[in-house]
Amino acid sequence: MTTAKSQQELEQAISHVDHTLSTFVKIVESNPQQPSYIHQFSDGLNKIKRELNRLSGESESLKGVLEYTHVLAQQNNFDWPAIKEQKPVARQDTSEATFITSVLQQWLASEKLKSIPVQHRLVQPEQKITNGSVCSLELTVRNILTATIDFEHHEPSDSLIIHRYDIKHPKEQKPYWQDSSYNVFQKIHTVASRALDDLTRFAAREALVNVLDWLTSYHQLYQEPCARCQKRLQFDSPQFKYLPPVVRTWDQTIGTAYHLKCFQE
Ligand SMILES: [Zn+2]
Repeated sequence: MTTAKSQQELEQAISHVDHTLSTFVKIVESNPQQPSYIHQFSDGLNKIKRELNRLSGESESLKGVLEYTHVLAQQNNFDWPAIKEQKPVARQDTSEATFITSVLQQWLASEKLKSIPVQHRLVQPEQKITNGSVCSLELTVRNILTATIDFEHHEPSDSLIIHRYDIKHPKEQKPYWQDSSYNVFQKIHTVASRALDDLTRFAAREALVNVLDWLTSYHQLYQEPCARCQKRLQFDSPQFKYLPPVVRTWDQTIGTAYHLKCFQE
């Protein structure tokens, strides 16, 4: 492939041809009576011929370049948005982020969930970020409790991070920054801050299954008696009055029911 000429080189070539032609014109216009006239005429004509031959050869090379450009244009293999915008366009990562969703699907298909009605919704579907993926999951357990949790799977450390959580009655439409209207969910929300912290200290897969198991263990919130006092209701305080066992254990055994006072004693 011949290197394409620069603008400056082309202008120089044109000016050279121009000069040769004007010299020849001067010879033609000079006095033909002079003895050297024939020789000068012949010499000038040869110079012009040489220049035209040289330019003709170069035009062949230029034609090759043009043909090559034409082939490229026909292939139309250009990133037109990037060219029009005149700035680099970051290629979107189309690989799907599926760690959280695949663990969730496996968990939903597990034997233990056959007797517990659980509904789930991805408020924000899982998406890839620099070091892993994020998603927002809403889990409703037996129309008793709805938890909304923003998860992050941090791949380098294989850990599960909970950025935000909310636990309310399924019919409540309040935003996450507002407390539940129900005393029982306000208490569960407080318990959850400790439980979720401990449950996510494991590797990501185990941590996610732990959290899902723990939330599901509230499926008999109002029926299950306290493992310590064996009662269903207990007077909590003048503010919270009588409450069912709002604690579900999260250490060795996930899901044993306790009243808050019975759990702390
Ligand atoms: Zn109790």
